[in-house]
Amino acid sequence: MKSDIRVCSAWRDAHDRPVYTLSETCPDCGSETENTAPAPFDPNDPHGEYRRALKRRRR
Ligand SMILES: [Zn+2]
Repeated sequence: MKSDIRVCSAWRDAHDRPVYTLSETCPDCGSETENTAPAPFDPNDPHGEYRRALKRRRR
């Protein structure tokens, strides 16, 4: 079974973090979304910018 949860395909360019949605288009930037099942991104990605951005936005 595929997951219904999708992620913005352009989040690396348009956002500081993955944008998840159930829609076929990103609610933030309008880009197409892709299913999360194929794991299009790696949560352990060593990109420091992404992690720092994530921490800054954590409340
Ligand atoms: Zn987006």
